[in-house]
Amino acid sequence: MKNAALTVLAVTTAVLAAPDYLAMVELEPGQDVRFVAETGVRVVEDMDQRCLVLVDEDELALLSQRHATRVLDNDPGANTYMLVMPRSGFDVSGLDRRHGTVLAVLDRGAILRTDEAGVFEMNALPVELVRIRLEPLQFSEVDAGLPVLPMVDDSLVRVLADRVEHDSILGAIQRLQDFYTRYSRHESCNVAIEWVRSKFEEYGCDTTFLFPFRSGYAPNAVGIKYGTTNPDIIYGICGHVDNTSDARPDHCPGADDNASGTAAVLEAARVFQDVEFENTVQFLGFAGEEQGLYGSDSMAQWSRNRGDSILAMLNFDMISYGRENIDTFEIIGKTYSPNCEWLVDFFIAQADTFTTLKSKKYMTTYAPYSDHHSYWQRGYVSFCGIENDFTPEYHTLGDTIGPLYYEWCGTNNVPMATQATKAAVVSLAKLAGAHLPTGVEERPVDVRPARLLGVSPSPGPAPVSIRLTSPLGPDGSVEVFDANGRSVTQLAHSGGSELSWDGTDASGLRVPAGVYLFRVLDRARTQTAKAVLTE
Ligand SMILES: [Zn+2]
Repeated sequence: MKNAALTVLAVTTAVLAAPDYLAMVELEPGQDVRFVAETGVRVVEDMDQRCLVLVDEDELALLSQRHATRVLDNDPGANTYMLVMPRSGFDVSGLDRRHGTVLAVLDRGAILRTDEAGVFEMNALPVELVRIRLEPLQFSEVDAGLPVLPMVDDSLVRVLADRVEHDSILGAIQRLQDFYTRYSRHESCNVAIEWVRSKFEEYGCDTTFLFPFRSGYAPNAVGIKYGTTNPDIIYGICGHVDNTSDARPDHCPGADDNASGTAAVLEAARVFQDVEFENTVQFLGFAGEEQGLYGSDSMAQWSRNRGDSILAMLNFDMISYGRENIDTFEIIGKTYSPNCEWLVDFFIAQADTFTTLKSKKYMTTYAPYSDHHSYWQRGYVSFCGIENDFTPEYHTLGDTIGPLYYEWCGTNNVPMATQATKAAVVSLAKLAGAHLPTGVEERPVDVRPARLLGVSPSPGPAPVSIRLTSPLGPDGSVEVFDANGRSVTQLAHSGGSELSWDGTDASGLRVPAGVYLFRVLDRARTQTAKAVLTE
């Protein structure tokens, strides 16, 4: 099922020479960006009736005959470009020279040539930064529509929805706010991300890991529950953990932006703790969002490079602010390439059935201000769930938890965040096929990683026995290390769930008494145990 619904029109990265120009192409009414991509030029950003392209001299001449085309910059290869979108009346023309060079001012914001220092300075401003990737967009031609849904027990869906708790979500927002700063380049953000990863582990994900994407930045946190029937079909829920503020990097409380969305991801993982899925489910906490979607960009590209069949990615960003009676919740989907309407409609149907969320559908060709955009750019179906009543404390020190409906804070409506999370839980349960475990013997043995049960005797003499919950997969291994971390030997295994070490190294010589570590690697899950070997 890999790539079934995806036809890639532009796959020309490796062979093309360095482009001469970054140019902006205006589209006629009724045209969309595929009209430009079909000519073979590298389209790097689809911007709603216009697009950005990388072209050489000849392509520029050809393109100019078909469209109003404007060169923005020469030799773009080595530069950093940002789309800077202002909030609350901020004037983007003032960015010129202070933060970079303004190449174009559009209705949505400005296109800026800048650098890392410019990005750091702009993180103190009330703007959303979108990094313009100099990589061709990937287009999905086929409109997949609602996938075939697994059979799911309705009563289980109700139980799962009822497990979503206001206080649990509030607690997670509070905990994240208490990190004091989650600015991506601050050590404290690393700690927050590791806390999110540890929660994914505590909540029973089959594998969890940190996903580094750029030096000096906190990594992404990843938790995965593998599907018991179709592990190659993937659904996901995500939110960015990092934040910025006018006092960055040392203080960025970010309760609404985006402890609230992260709390939805954590709460989903929590209520699914004892649940299995037919399809795989990813739980993702991103960093580097505020510097231009860095974390989700590399995560989505990683999935695309692997050929992962992600059928839907639910993104939540700022879901806890809404004053009384204006607390509607927007679900933003893309109209084409990929068409995300089925997902938006599906989510709203679940919200209307199981929750009191006042959802509002918003379909667009371009909404690059959060992590769903990274998935859209790879042709993956995704949406952004976001408050409609936007907090006035966006990217300020005031983005903290306040009383219900209070105006001057970040989080003033945990009930709305709770209802949105409930709708997300129901959606994922139905899409990914939630079911309660029915016994180990019914589980396909090749899907779940073997877990380490114990190493014995310790202390004691060889042979040492290593016991696992199930046999290792074909690529699984158990390696022995000494106390200094040097590899001693790799144990042979023939499919059993118990391995034995005779106390010799790779060349068959007896090793001295001491502490030895046993590392079990199976289906991307690593576990380590220690034993003391006596003579
Ligand atoms: Zn955000």
